[in-house]
Amino acid sequence: MAAALTLALTLALTVLPAPGRTAPSTAQGDDTAAASNADQRDINAHAVDAPIRIGVLAYKGPEAVQRDWSRLRQWLQTRLPGRSVELLDFDQAGLTGAVRARAVDFIISSSGHYAMLEQNDGASRIATLASPWSASPQLAIGSAIVVRRDAPLHTLAELAGKHVLAVAPEAFGGYQIAARELLAAGVDPERDLDRLQFSGFPTQQILLAVRAGRADAGIVRSCLLEQMIRSGELGAGELRVLAPLPHPGSSCQSSSRLYPDWPFAALRHTAPALSRQVAVALLTMAPTADGYSWTVPSDYGSVDELFHELRIGPYDYLRQWTIETALRRYWGLLLLALGLLVLWAVHTVRVEHLVARRSAELLAAQQRERQLADEAQSRQATLDHTARLAILGEMASAIAHELNQPLAAIGNFARGMARRIDAGRTETAPLLEGANEIAAQSERAADIMRKVRALAQKRAPERRRLDLGAVLDEAVALFRAAHPQARVNWQAGAPAPVLGDALQIQQVALNLLKNALDAQRSTHAAAEAPLLVTLRARGRDWRVCVRDRGCGLAPDEFVRLFEPFFTTKAEGLGLGLSLSKGIMESFGGTLSVRPNDDGVGLSVCFTLPNLELSETP
Ligand code: ADP
Repeated sequence: MAAALTLALTLALTVLPAPGRTAPSTAQGDDTAAASNADQRDINAHAVDAPIRIGVLAYKGPEAVQRDWSRLRQWLQTRLPGRSVELLDFDQAGLTGAVRARAVDFIISSSGHYAMLEQNDGASRIATLASPWSASPQLAIGSAIVVRRDAPLHTLAELAGKHVLAVAPEAFGGYQIAARELLAAGVDPERDLDRLQFSGFPTQQILLAVRAGRADAGIVRSCLLEQMIRSGELGAGELRVLAPLPHPGSSCQSSSRLYPDWPFAALRHTAPALSRQVAVALLTMAPTADGYSWTVPSDYGSVDELFHELRIGPYDYLRQWTIETALRRYWGLLLLALGLLVLWAVHTVRVEHLVARRSAELLAAQQRERQLADEAQSRQATLDHTARLAILGEMASAIAHELNQPLAAIGNFARGMARRIDAGRTETAPLLEGANEIAAQSERAADIMRKVRALAQKRAPERRRLDLGAVLDEAVALFRAAHPQARVNWQAGAPAPVLGDALQIQQVALNLLKNALDAQRSTHAAAEAPLLVTLRARGRDWRVCVRDRGCGLAPDEFVRLFEPFFTTKAEGLGLGLSLSKGIMESFGGTLSVRPNDDGVGLSVCFTLPNLELSETP
């Protein structure tokens, strides 16, 4: 490019007005001329003899700088009479150093390097190069990723795992532009390549190395390949640009988007008047035959965008992971996270508070429930006791009568024995028989009393393994003792194991027997009929029925049978059946009433789970 520029400038020198000549006579031209004169005075007043030093990025080596830009030097010298113009070549770091040391007044450098200098060192562009290779100075510089023509590489993504040469990490066209494209293609050049090697200036050596097979691909400024082919340094069919993008109007192939061309920039310490004069000189340089010229400064915002995306240059800090960068970069997310954390904390505290409150409420409710259950249990126990006492009360005269019999028998035997002794008839055998009879009768009386006492006891119900047959035996015996005139048909059979409270089950059985007897007595016809008590296995239960031939029940009485305090008897409490039902249900059983099949009397039955069957699954 610079060789072509030299040629262009040579031509321009022949086309443009001679130094010192007046500018074209337009209004703008007059202004320029006036400014020119003022600037000239300004410059003369400051440092007439000091040379104007232009620092140039020597991307093709130091000799190329003097060769390629010497015509520009001459042109400026012509336009700034009395001042000599020097071209100083630098690599990128050297040029940055020269700017900082104020060793140069102007710079010509790559767009990327310029963007850095603008950001950090106050460089300010006064013109942008317009090259014949591109359609516009704004879209002129790209990267060419060059591979051998026959290389099996067709997309940028295929460069993963390959050996790639580039100019330098800070080279704009020679690395950074291509790095952005590689990242976009999913290849992180710092991580995904087999090897990324930087060879420095001159950049031509990169393409020569690729041609020689010392690397799979080389990253260079776009147009370098075309220039080297034109100058004969490379053969036309040896290398090609990988994945070229369409850039209408551009005569060089690029594997990347395009950025503004090189700028000509003044520096912070450059005298403004001198900058203005140089700018005017550059802009008035006519396009050369090859089409090179300087034009108004381009917008280098797209370069800044690239820096930001790659996190380099002014955005290098984004790569360093410090609290500050994290805050700067992720403050939005951090704020959101903080907000969520606060919400979560508030939510947790609230939930804990609610849980504590609900737990306390639950505990209080449980305590209340337990208290109510205790109260209900004690009421039930009182009711049970009352019912048992009621049964005993009803049986009291019968029991007294029953007790009278053994007592009378004891009295008779005792008197008989006394008479025998009085009469001197003291044979052992009859006396022994009398004594045994007295003992048997007193045993019988004690047995009745024991059962009555047990029934009269007030105590909490138990849940024990029992033989239902034996419990019924006791109940029937007690009933018979209380009602000697009543006939009860009952035959104990094989053991019938159940879980329950013997006393409560006896209470139920006595209640059913008493009701049955009452029902039969209310109809004279059946007063003497036997009450039938049966115990049978039924499904998984034992079933006990008390069958009578009594008065039965009217349909409206049937419905109310289990209501507490429902009674048809003058002395009745109306609690027997409702309590009996509750007792059976508390042991997992049932209580039911049905008329007998022949329509005479009722069968009142209860069931209890057969323990043998409920123990075996
Ligand atoms: P009570 O015997 O104190 O009246 P129960 O609860 O034992 O209380 O009985 C309620 C009512 O049910 C009795 O008054 C009676 O009318 C009726 N009843 C109970 N068993 C029979 C039965 N075997 N035959 C006819 N009626 C019965």
